[in-house]
Amino acid sequence: MKTRPASAKKTITSGNSAPAHGVSAKTRKMLINGQWVAAASGETFPTIDPATGEVICRVPAGDKADIDAAVKAARAAFETGPWRRLTASERGRLLWKLADLLEENLEEFARLDSLDNGKPLAVARAADVPLAVDLFRYMAGWTTKIHGRTFPISVPYAPGAQFHAYTQREPVGVVGQIIPWNFPLLMAAWKLGPALATGCTVVLKPAEQTPLSALRLGELIQQAGFPDGVVNIVTGLGETAGAALAGHPGIDKIAFTGSTEVGKLIVRAAANDLKKVSLELGGKSPNIILDDADLETAIPGAASAIFFNHGQCCCAGSRLYVHKKHFNKVVEGVAAAAAKIKVGPGLAPDTEMGPLVSEEQLDRVMGFLRSGQSEGAKPLAGGGRHGDRGYFVEPTVLVDTKPGMKVLEEEIFGPVVCAVPFTDVDEVLAAANSNIYGLAAAVWTRDVSRAHQLASALRAGTVWVNCYNIFDAALPFGGYKQSGWGREMGEEALQLYTETKAVCVRL
Ligand code: ADP
Repeated sequence: MKTRPASAKKTITSGNSAPAHGVSAKTRKMLINGQWVAAASGETFPTIDPATGEVICRVPAGDKADIDAAVKAARAAFETGPWRRLTASERGRLLWKLADLLEENLEEFARLDSLDNGKPLAVARAADVPLAVDLFRYMAGWTTKIHGRTFPISVPYAPGAQFHAYTQREPVGVVGQIIPWNFPLLMAAWKLGPALATGCTVVLKPAEQTPLSALRLGELIQQAGFPDGVVNIVTGLGETAGAALAGHPGIDKIAFTGSTEVGKLIVRAAANDLKKVSLELGGKSPNIILDDADLETAIPGAASAIFFNHGQCCCAGSRLYVHKKHFNKVVEGVAAAAAKIKVGPGLAPDTEMGPLVSEEQLDRVMGFLRSGQSEGAKPLAGGGRHGDRGYFVEPTVLVDTKPGMKVLEEEIFGPVVCAVPFTDVDEVLAAANSNIYGLAAAVWTRDVSRAHQLASALRAGTVWVNCYNIFDAALPFGGYKQSGWGREMGEEALQLYTETKAVCVRL
């Protein structure tokens, strides 16, 4: 569970110093009912630059009272505001306009996420922001295509009667959305896109580590012309604002992305009034290199599968299974790639891997590294902290792990891969599927039959073949097993935000 990073307390007073990074140090406000407001309590908390541990600025510490105000605003916007009277096409145009505004401000958003999260600026520019733009455009296209069906019904106890029966899809209502810090803007887009396309209203709570891009997005949402109260953005800690949102009786649905541990708390909170719940949770994704793989692509692919976004991806390829014929060559190749990665602040132009997001994550990942090595795992690259300022960890390749070790079973959420040799496909399939998670998996092979057989047999919501981390707004993403409920993106995401009503008319 997230708490304020310990270092935040130490550096609280530097919050208003002149920023070297070009992002305003002014205390932010949050968006409730079209107004930019402080928390009702007046409390704030700092958001930290993970490259230095210093405060970037402070944001409102929203809690129960603010969530309550935001839910009331979202309810009024849903029930009585102009939003419900907009045509589907008008909703689509608002979403498209939002995408255009985001694209016009791409550089600013890339810098905000790079600073707040630590990710390399080039990655935020090339991936996070463009993917968010695409998502809003994709969902803008759906607004006019959310429709029901007609049914030729035959009612045995009404002989001779004629009926016209059809379904219509309606917005589920007021939605609470809680998002994580690993892709701050993109996760906001994944959540807001389908909710707004279907006509819901939203209370969004960004992660406390990375609130800045969501707050700036709130300004663009207003500029695009969304009516007041349709999107409310409340900053706050998980255990206060997040818990208040998940348990609020005034929302119809809660959508959460984050750890499986917190996902279970969300389900419990939602159980009181049986809110609809969708969850995109953790992973420990198997990445399988078969004996006939093209190693020229598989080796860099395996490195990027784990080291992209510093391993802070729920779908990170953190269990690397390699046929024993190629094991040494592959692990040495991935370790060499790890050793070459330029680690530094996200905003530095030559950085390829930034810091972890917080001191808490640094401690967590270091704990895994200590536990793995104490149980006999051997680092072929990395294995420790990088430097002593900020929250940097060395890209790490571990070998000699054994089933049952925490490093091999649990989600680390850092740049740490466990490489394991195998001899036959059934053995590796069983190992791959043996984990509690089922978010993603990958297979590297030149054999098209084996590729499809494994794609079908792997218990994961996404299977990549000869590639990794390929995302598109049209492709559903989500997990089997303890990786979640429901799918983000694609047409499937619309299911999460609509109710189906059956209407039966006697003619
Ligand atoms: P991670 O492990 O990736 O940091 P978390 O699951 O802790 O992810 O956090 C993801 C989101 O969940 C954040 O917005 C955080 O504030 C929120 N959160 C954390 N704890 C709770 C909670 N008890 N109830 C609701 N939301 C929470």
